[in-house]
Amino acid sequence: MTNQTFEQLKKTYESGRTRPLAWRRAQLNALRRLVTENRDAFVSSAMADLGKPAAETVLMELNLVAGEAQFVRNRLSLWTARHPKAMHWMLQPAAGWTIAEPKGVVLIISPWNYPVLLALEPMADALAAGNAVCLKPSELSPNTSKLLAELVPQYLDSEAVRVVEGGPKETGELLKCPFNHIFYTGGGHVGKIVMRAAAEHLTPVTLELGGKSPCLVDRTANLKLAARRIVFGKFLNCGQTCVAPDYIYCDPEIKEALVAELRRQITRQYGKEPLKNRNYGKIINEKHFDRINSLIDPAKTVCGGGSNRETLQIEPTVLDNVTFEDPVMQQEIFGPVLPVLTYDSLGGAVAKINSMAHPLALYIFTEDEKNAREVTSRCGFGGGCINDVLIHLATSNMGFGG
Ligand code: NAD
Repeated sequence: MTNQTFEQLKKTYESGRTRPLAWRRAQLNALRRLVTENRDAFVSSAMADLGKPAAETVLMELNLVAGEAQFVRNRLSLWTARHPKAMHWMLQPAAGWTIAEPKGVVLIISPWNYPVLLALEPMADALAAGNAVCLKPSELSPNTSKLLAELVPQYLDSEAVRVVEGGPKETGELLKCPFNHIFYTGGGHVGKIVMRAAAEHLTPVTLELGGKSPCLVDRTANLKLAARRIVFGKFLNCGQTCVAPDYIYCDPEIKEALVAELRRQITRQYGKEPLKNRNYGKIINEKHFDRINSLIDPAKTVCGGGSNRETLQIEPTVLDNVTFEDPVMQQEIFGPVLPVLTYDSLGGAVAKINSMAHPLALYIFTEDEKNAREVTSRCGFGGGCINDVLIHLATSNMGFGG
């Protein structure tokens, strides 16, 4: 079945149907309509899958997809134009230029945490580039996966864009096909499976993975601002955000004051009983619920720590006096648990971060420009912010990756 899907998409691509700019613009317009006209349906599906409040689905998923579709649509002429290049004098009177060409049939494998955004944003880019697309949404967000499978053929050219639902088995079948590019978003373990399968056909891959994104807070930082923004970015979607600050790495001098501000901000943003707050979501499934709970050390918990396995909710939790040897520092947390660690010197913090796996994002809160420059120029990371978190994703102009 999946092989048939691939063969059909390949036939469409080879027919030349996806190349004209008019076709690409029509698909991008349709993609915008798909998310704007079905706002309520997506809000309901994300609520069912993740307990996501409506505002989060609209702001962090639907609006970003619509924005990306418009962004790439507006730049199509420029990106697809011939770019003349200077010729060496010995080659005169030759003229030379580069042209951007579509890749062919692209496979997009998306995860469950932002189930609309991470499926349809790469789709906008692949369509803009003139490709045929096969989307495989995550089986762990089944309501959104089903909705995408229903809506995509209603809005987009079904000869050139297909949705295949399913889990590892179906993905494994798809990965046997010689796609021309694979765009995978998810954890590193499956990333390796994808890359191995792609190697069989020498298919280029883009892997959007996760990791432990540090959040540095130095002694000059505005602690109230830092706490407000860190609490927003960390506990949004219950910490199930790939670029959420994974841990705080701060100057010991300001730690007590920062922890006190974090506590205040959690109450301010989620109330005294976050599990009763309708705007606070849930963990995707029991497996992740148990995994995240096992990372909470009661002896180190200074805020939150409570949970409800029936509703799959875990309170916004802050752990103090954490060390790099603690279980919570051995894996990406991907949940509402925020460990606080201290450094001896900023230089030492940079060295420690660089000794760990390359983070997807890095944040620093400081009022000292020199410190901001030192950290951002010496640490390797995908993207990040100074005195903020997450918002580097809010603009298509910055690109995204890690
Ligand atoms: P997931 O379990 O939904 O898996 C992602 C995709 O891989 C799904 O479509 C799933 O069906 C498929 N898959 C799962 N097991 C497979 C297997 N054995 N063989 C083939 N395909 C398989 O999502 P996840 O991995 O739990 O996602 C969370 C991770 O994704 C976190 O590490 C997070 O940081 C990362 N992430 C990264 C980004 C980014 O943009 N870099 C964005 C979101 C999430």
